[in-house]
Amino acid sequence: MDAFFDEGALIGVLTTQPLGGALDYRAPEGGCWQGAFVEVPLGPRKVWGVVWGPGKGDFDPSKVRSVARVLETAPMRAELRDFLEKAGEYTLTPLPAMLRLATRAPALGDAVATRRIYRRGAGRPDRETDARRRVLDVLDDMGGLALTQKELADAAGVTASVIKGLVKQGVVREEDAPRDTPYPRLDPDWGGKTLTEDQATGAEALRAGLRAGRYGTTLLKGVTGSGKTEVYLEAVAECLRQGRQALVLLPEIALTSEFLTRVEARFGARPAEWHHGVTQTERRRVWKMVAEGGAELVVGARSSLFLPFRDLGLVVVDEEHDTSYKQEDGVLYNARDMAVLRASLNDARVVLASATPSLESWANAEAGKYDRLTLTSRFGEAVLPDMRAIDMRGEDLPATRWISPTLAAAIRARLDRGEQSLLFLNRRGYAPVTLCRACGHQIGCDQCDARMVEHRFQRRLVCHQCGETKPMPEACPACAVEGKLAAVGPGVERMAEEARSAFPEARIAVLSSDLFGSARALKAEIEEIAAGAADIVIGTQLVAKGHNFPLLTLVGVIDADLGLQGSDLRAAERTFQLMRQVAGRAGRAEKRGVALLQTHQPDHPVIRAILAGDDEGFWRAEAEERRMAGVPPYGRMAGVILSSADVQQVFDLGGALARQDAPLRRIGAEVYGPAPAPVARVRGRHRVRLLVKAPKGVPLQRALAEWAGQFRLRGDLRMAIDIDPQSF
Ligand code: ADP
Ligand code: ZN
Repeated sequence: MDAFFDEGALIGVLTTQPLGGALDYRAPEGGCWQGAFVEVPLGPRKVWGVVWGPGKGDFDPSKVRSVARVLETAPMRAELRDFLEKAGEYTLTPLPAMLRLATRAPALGDAVATRRIYRRGAGRPDRETDARRRVLDVLDDMGGLALTQKELADAAGVTASVIKGLVKQGVVREEDAPRDTPYPRLDPDWGGKTLTEDQATGAEALRAGLRAGRYGTTLLKGVTGSGKTEVYLEAVAECLRQGRQALVLLPEIALTSEFLTRVEARFGARPAEWHHGVTQTERRRVWKMVAEGGAELVVGARSSLFLPFRDLGLVVVDEEHDTSYKQEDGVLYNARDMAVLRASLNDARVVLASATPSLESWANAEAGKYDRLTLTSRFGEAVLPDMRAIDMRGEDLPATRWISPTLAAAIRARLDRGEQSLLFLNRRGYAPVTLCRACGHQIGCDQCDARMVEHRFQRRLVCHQCGETKPMPEACPACAVEGKLAAVGPGVERMAEEARSAFPEARIAVLSSDLFGSARALKAEIEEIAAGAADIVIGTQLVAKGHNFPLLTLVGVIDADLGLQGSDLRAAERTFQLMRQVAGRAGRAEKRGVALLQTHQPDHPVIRAILAGDDEGFWRAEAEERRMAGVPPYGRMAGVILSSADVQQVFDLGGALARQDAPLRRIGAEVYGPAPAPVARVRGRHRVRLLVKAPKGVPLQRALAEWAGQFRLRGDLRMAIDIDPQSF
């Protein structure tokens, strides 16, 4: 229960300033509720914060200042405050940083101020300048939507005066922002489909869970196209009937208009959206309506977990195995795990949906912590593709070509029938390595330890770690011999070149994140391809995620062995998931698809499990390996990354951490390292990593905090602790 503080009472106010935790203040005139958003003096400034609880009294009472005023924003509910505290404890993140996650979107100070918005007016400016043209281009791109002045200025790279000049001429229109309005009501009984028996059983189990009104997690497993989405939308419907709010999390790239249209068809109106592409104005509306109950359903990316729901009853995590749920900078958290935590504090249900669940979720279901629902067959006529290996040891192919004769014949047959083929290669650019044939030098990044990747389309070498680019040199930087630099190995651009020469009449599309200026352009391209605008699609792992290509009947995996090398213990799981997902792109409509995997190791256990479609067998074998190694999900791991421009300094601190490991030894944990981090140098900073392995059920976070707390970070030394790292 939230407390009420009378005027003058000592209270703790949490701000987003990095000052550890809540600071003591006195409640303002009229008092305030716990959870209220308030403005407080901090030094010479005023900042906003949240009334977190009673004050600590650790400050000279005569110097404690008063809250300046209470903001109109709806108070932060106890469940969300609780969630931020627990998520902060789990990820070892200070509370101010957690609060920033939960309030990042709307400028709270602005919430009460009048805001002006800008949209395209009529005509052209009296005088055309580059700056003016950029403003109009941005507005034209928005298709009638309005932007705030800051958004417009930032997007066009101009100052406010340029915008004002255009407003004066009527070329840009200035208006008062509309008051935030609720989203249209969703009708749970609008467009439901007649479910198959399998699906109906699943939907009923999820509805029953919701009716129980207590926390619980269900792993919804089923091959791509089996109707998982249909089934979890029934759970959403039940949640809406109960008058509670629902959240559907998707990997950012799967947030397509196709998906939103589908939700609209089911409920008769569009849900609120929350992701990178949502404008500031709209974000403010979502944030407010979620808090007030004017948004019943949010479809969003991982950060929507931190929205201030009034009464969250259901969280769906679609494609729950997806690695993009892990936020890799700032606060290091996995949205899938945080969804479970948030739901448990809200008496809400969780549905984790995937064709290829993470081993963590699979193990939780095995252990009975999660309920399990399985959809076994694809809906309608669609059947799983026929999966076969192409043994590359027996294929006749020159070293600079990668489409085997067997795969080429299969593509040819699709072209003749007017069907689509997808060639999958998880490597952006033209070639991963640029080698000097005179001296053997490989061109690397000056800032990182990574090799530069040739991007022929941009005519540059690009570092995939730090984004550094440089022009392709004429001569080798090491031996200065000219004309000897050669591209080694394939990237998607090079595959496109090979496909063009092998199938000159085919329409070829390349789907790789770096070839598109914006997420919107990429989505548009995907939609065109789905409608049949290409014969051969060449793509990176972008294409593996949830897109529906009805004309696609062949998937060719160029190098199925790519993910199997390396020391990463998760490599097998990743390869298995990726290959299954990619193969699932074929034959979603009425046509049977085939997936051909080019491999040099057709007898590798992972390749064999993929070919046999033996999911359970794969998971059981993989689980056994992890159990033997004592790693997640059968043990706990944490990564500690130290970085500095000074290599000696990072190794010194790393060494000291490794030696002074008493706090860890007390809980039975072991430290490995320091070793160069998976990426050993980024933007000129050297990085070393220590890995901590602990048994389950011990207070790992507390021990880590004590261990790391023994050291002061001086100069430019940084330490980041990553609980449950993605690679180990
Ligand atoms: P998944 O989420 O498992 O990939 P979907 O829910 O997207 O599967 O279903 C695949 C396709 O089959 C979709 O186009 C969906 O509308 C359709 N579909 C699934 N179940 C039914 C059903 N019971 N009635 C009509 N169409 C269905
Ligand atoms: Zn680099």
